[in-house]
Amino acid sequence: MKAVKRKVGKYELGRTIGEGTFAKVKFAQNTENGKSVAIKVIAKSTILKHKMVDQIKREISIMKIVRHPYIVRLHEVLSSHTKVYIVMELVKGGQLFDKIVNRRGLSENESRHYFQQLIDAVSLCHSKGVYHRDLKPENLLLDSEGNLKVSDFGLSALPQQGVELLHTTCGTPNYVAPEVLSHRGYDGAAADVWSCGVILYVLMAGYLPFDETNLSTLYNKINAAEFSCPFWFSPAAMSLLHKILDPNPETRINIEGIKMDPWFENNYVPIRPKEIEGVNLDDVSAVFDDIEDNYVNEESRTNDTGPLVMNAFEMITLSQGLNLSALFDRHQDSVKRQTRFVSRQPAKVIISAIEAASESMGLKVHTRNYKTRLEGVSANGASQFAVVLEVYEVAPSLFMVDVRKAAGETLEYHKFYKNLCAKIDYIIWKPKEGMKNTALLRPMTC
Ligand code: ADP
Ligand code: MG
Repeated sequence: MKAVKRKVGKYELGRTIGEGTFAKVKFAQNTENGKSVAIKVIAKSTILKHKMVDQIKREISIMKIVRHPYIVRLHEVLSSHTKVYIVMELVKGGQLFDKIVNRRGLSENESRHYFQQLIDAVSLCHSKGVYHRDLKPENLLLDSEGNLKVSDFGLSALPQQGVELLHTTCGTPNYVAPEVLSHRGYDGAAADVWSCGVILYVLMAGYLPFDETNLSTLYNKINAAEFSCPFWFSPAAMSLLHKILDPNPETRINIEGIKMDPWFENNYVPIRPKEIEGVNLDDVSAVFDDIEDNYVNEESRTNDTGPLVMNAFEMITLSQGLNLSALFDRHQDSVKRQTRFVSRQPAKVIISAIEAASESMGLKVHTRNYKTRLEGVSANGASQFAVVLEVYEVAPSLFMVDVRKAAGETLEYHKFYKNLCAKIDYIIWKPKEGMKNTALLRPMTC
């Protein structure tokens, strides 16, 4: 088994936290001050191919200057021969949508609370001329205090699901505005507002407003804004949703309008953003001005052992509902995740069980180095669905399996995860009844 430790400039790269179609996000530690960060790794070719260097440079510069409690902070950018590294604040509370997967949706008050934070973040970026264009659950994270953190602002020029991916059939268009789908030139602000509306709907309902197994039916429904609200939505919330999910971007409510909406205004406490003066943008220029020839040192160390070893402290900090990370400063590299489980079976048995279960679900399976990638087609029959499972040794004969989505739609992914767990239930370790309240042995929910 191969484990690679890489260093990029002063950062030591660790485990992969998440992946999208064009980028991976990894844990990293700043070796100068010991602080943990998240680093998004993107191939330079991806950026060059899309000829968006100037726009990305401009937006990344703005994002480096902007400070807002609900926006993931961008610390700096670095590059190697082939890659660009975006160093960001590490957000540890997991994804916002993890909160709804086992429920019918959040209460209206709770949904409004997150929606207000989302609108605050979006509003600030719009005021700076930065549009997100890819607002979707994967980019809505929670910090350790439970506040929203929107990620990927300023990366809107990178290829995304909305426009590019629909052709490569990787994306899930559920959050994308009709004018984006139909390739009319579009206004980033209005398109973001639409996505915020879909997000608000999902928060309150627990399911998507536009969801069809047939892609062309889905497009038609989005284009016509054909959706219905569950009975538990209040009339005031429904009224706002209809103003947001207006298929015509010209008549769609804008951010200012949302802020004046009576339903929205309830308990709204606006945040005053800060701008830090004298932020140094040399790193941004260094990476983007000569994107083809500037780079930092990249070092690799390879070793051949079993599955990656994770120590007990790391596992404790990973376990749900218990955050001891403050006590163990050196072990800051954890983010909360719904989808991981513990097993006492040998690693090889775990992998075989996962493989067999996945094959029975019609997924293609590739395993390498105790890491399994599953691929299939989404329920809509057109887009790609992919999951990565990684086995870590936590203690002798105790393994943790970290499961993350690599492509596809979030709610579908959570359904898949439930299904998988049901099939491999016999290898999942669940502490005995009496131990349930022992924090250290809290089961990983499945
Ligand atoms: P996506 O297009 O799905 O957002 P990304 O490459 O931006 O893909 O990120 C992949 C995943 O990594 C995200 O869905 C998120 O769960 C996680 N992630 C991204 N940024 C951070 C961060 N700053 N801190 C913690 N986790 C992050
Ligand atoms: Mg993202």
